[in-house]
Parts: sequence; C-alpha cells; structure tokens
Amino acid sequence: MTRRLFTIFCGLSLLLCVASLVLWVRAWMANDLILKAHIGNNGYLLTLRQGRIELTGIWDFADSASWLNWNIPCWLVLLLTAVLPVLLFISVVRRRSILSARMKNGSCLKCGYSLTGNVSGTCPECGMEIAAKTP
Ligand SMILES: [Zn+2]
Repeated sequence: MTRRLFTIFCGLSLLLCVASLVLWVRAWMANDLILKAHIGNNGYLLTLRQGRIELTGIWDFADSASWLNWNIPCWLVLLLTAVLPVLLFISVVRRRSILSARMKNGSCLKCGYSLTGNVSGTCPECGMEIAAKTP
C-alpha cells in the first residue's frame, strides 16, 4: 500500500514537473497574467515573467500600491517537483540490479537466499516457489 501511494505521488509529481517545465519555458517567452483576483479590498496578481512566478498583493488596482511581492524561480519549482520521480527512477534501477544479480547467482528472487543444490522447488528461507530451470 505504501509503495503504491509512493508511486501515485511520484506520478503526480512527474506531471507537476512537466507542467513547471512548460511554465518555465513559457515564462521566458512571454509575460503572462495567470490570475487576477479580488479578495475583500485587496487584489492579487499571479504572473509569469522572465522565468519566475510572481505573486503580488495590491491594496488597490487603481494606484497599484503593492504590499506583497513573492518571486519564485520556475527552475526551483521544477527542481522540487523532480525529486520524487528521480527517487522512483533510482529505486526501480536499484531493484532491477538486485534482481539481475540474484538471477545470475541462482539465488531466491524474493529474499536472496542461495538456492544452490536446492531440489525441493521452494525457497527454505521465505517459502517462495522456484520456477524450474529450463536447460
Ligand atoms: Zn527466498
């Protein structure tokens, strides 16, 4: 269950990573106003500009006096969203490497116990059934 959740989060993170890559490229090509919102008397602008995501809080749109100005580089968002997919990739490569070594050594694929001389058809360590070797 935990592994499945990790995989789902990695997939979502990969989607965000691709989206942030597209935003990063877009932010260098054009200045975009993504969102303009009024909350109470204050206004908020969410813009893409020169490779950055900018959140600006404005007292009044008429005089554009800002009280909040957050700048987040798109590459930082890309980097943060790439962490989980990279960890998943490393995990898959490592697991395949371990399974390959166990197959080469004639060990149990589940627990790694040496099955040299085993004729019972099951691993004595974990009980996993062993497929008969084809000559
Ligand atoms: Zn085993």
